[in-house]
Amino acid sequence: MGLILCGKHGQSGVVPFVSKKLSNEISLGNIVNIKDFSILHVIFYDDDEILGKDKYYLMKEELPQEAITSNPIKIYTDEDENKLNILLGSSFLGGGYCVICFESWIQLLNLK
Ligand SMILES: [Zn+2]
Repeated sequence: MGLILCGKHGQSGVVPFVSKKLSNEISLGNIVNIKDFSILHVIFYDDDEILGKDKYYLMKEELPQEAITSNPIKIYTDEDENKLNILLGSSFLGGGYCVICFESWIQLLNLK
């Protein structure tokens, strides 16, 4: 886990999969409802075995077309993972959020 400099908490852990745009909107207090953004689920497989799951938080308009038709996105190979990184890279560059702030935001939305 990387570190981020939070205005409230100082140096803090970072939730990496929050898009830059969504991060800004959360900071401004503009995102108050699950309808205001999207959660993209990504599942990593080794053959049929699930290796791990990630959640990507982003604005609705940032959700790639591919992800609208298939959510969760299933990753089987390195190639799939590269494709995902290309698909999402520009939205998440410079994104991420303080882990403590993000937790309280999630709780506020009652998303757990
Ligand atoms: Zn914080």
